[in-house]
Amino acid sequence: MSAVDQVTAALDRIKRLDPQLKCILRTQDAAAPIKSGDGLLQGVPIAIKDNICTHDGITTCGSKMLANYRSPYDAHVVERLRAAGAVIVAKTNCDEFAMGSSTEHSAFFPTRNPWNPECVPGGTSGGSAAAVAARLVPYALGSDTGGSVRQPAALCGVCGLKPTYGRVSRYGLVAHASSLDQIGPIATDVRGIARMLQVIAGHDPRDSTSAHEPVPDYLAALDQSTGKLCIGVPREYFGDGLDPEIRRAVEAAIETYKSLGATIREVSLPHSKYTIACYYIISTAEASSNLARFDGVRYGHRTANPRDYIDVYSSSRAEGFGPEVKRRIMLGTYALSSGYYDAYYSKALKVRTLIKRDFNEAFSQCDILLSPTSPTPAFKIGEKSDDPLAMYLADIYTTSISLAGIPAISIPCGLTASRLPIGLQLMATHFGEVRLLQAAHQYQSATAFHTATPPVCAE
Ligand code: GLN
Repeated sequence: MSAVDQVTAALDRIKRLDPQLKCILRTQDAAAPIKSGDGLLQGVPIAIKDNICTHDGITTCGSKMLANYRSPYDAHVVERLRAAGAVIVAKTNCDEFAMGSSTEHSAFFPTRNPWNPECVPGGTSGGSAAAVAARLVPYALGSDTGGSVRQPAALCGVCGLKPTYGRVSRYGLVAHASSLDQIGPIATDVRGIARMLQVIAGHDPRDSTSAHEPVPDYLAALDQSTGKLCIGVPREYFGDGLDPEIRRAVEAAIETYKSLGATIREVSLPHSKYTIACYYIISTAEASSNLARFDGVRYGHRTANPRDYIDVYSSSRAEGFGPEVKRRIMLGTYALSSGYYDAYYSKALKVRTLIKRDFNEAFSQCDILLSPTSPTPAFKIGEKSDDPLAMYLADIYTTSISLAGIPAISIPCGLTASRLPIGLQLMATHFGEVRLLQAAHQYQSATAFHTATPPVCAE
């Protein structure tokens, strides 16, 4: 297809299917004329999570606070995509400031799962994952702080990668928790993930945590032999709370790897039980500090008739932020406050080091780790919205990877009896994306789970 045809087809599909799915906040069809060229993504329509800045149109972060915010610049990843010929056709729905696991915390509307519209698509990059699952666009970008690319990818039956911390520049990604945030691609197969990563990875001086590590040829690596893989299975990831259908599907994936010649070894990540507590102290502490910039003065929502200057801050923030964001700011401010800093924040940093060491130890025994991505398949809209703790537990298998800063991918590995997708999570050591993508591609070469399409695609 020509570039113009591809983009027109994506926009037509969005117009036809998105009214029932609500993945898209805005289409950007008025964008610059499509140029010809030979970029790696020439003419490819791409959807971008709405917490990643694009200079055309607005960037809301799923929040009323930024409902009219126009970024004066493109995020680094958006510059890279445009330079590779991609066309940004849409901005996708997400939980407000990327806080949540279901996309229900969007200030605008919830997104629906293309496999079952009564269910959530996961979150926070739920709009991006659902858009790729419904084949509205071939590729999308999300951001992953504690699982927000991998968990929605799992719940929507597509692939999603969280790259190594520092692999992709965060310049132009609205900050949630800066030591954890990383932008990642979503696609239907691993080749698509490799293609997107190829374009967005690499050093950027505007993000001081962006790595100088050279960018390998991820696409070429897919067709090279992985050698003999040793896969570690962390026993703590198969405990209580894991849905039995998910357990069976992940165990079947282990059998598939065995039949492909991999060695399987049980390993232990003994500090896993502290992951959720540690993540929700560190991420809320960082979020409370990052979100202090929304003060009603410089940009974002400003209250209409403030009584005095204190009221500018308090009413603007009270009106602009939704309940989950307020909860995080309060939790984070508490953990950082005098008297509690040592008991919570500084202790959580020590636990983070122990969690990192668990991974170092595990990777001294194997090349790749394998687990479920999410303990349950997609849940019903509304099911967890009144129970923040239940929502936080959706991240039980994804947050430790974020604390360690290592890369992980979620790929489809089956469907439940009620035809909801199941995700398999593979993890690698720092900058081990080549091995990770090769292992994931090897699985997809031997199985067809990633080719299944949701019912909405038949319409
Ligand atoms: N669900 C996690 C949270 O709410 C992860 C969010 C994310 O990765 N952006 O913090």
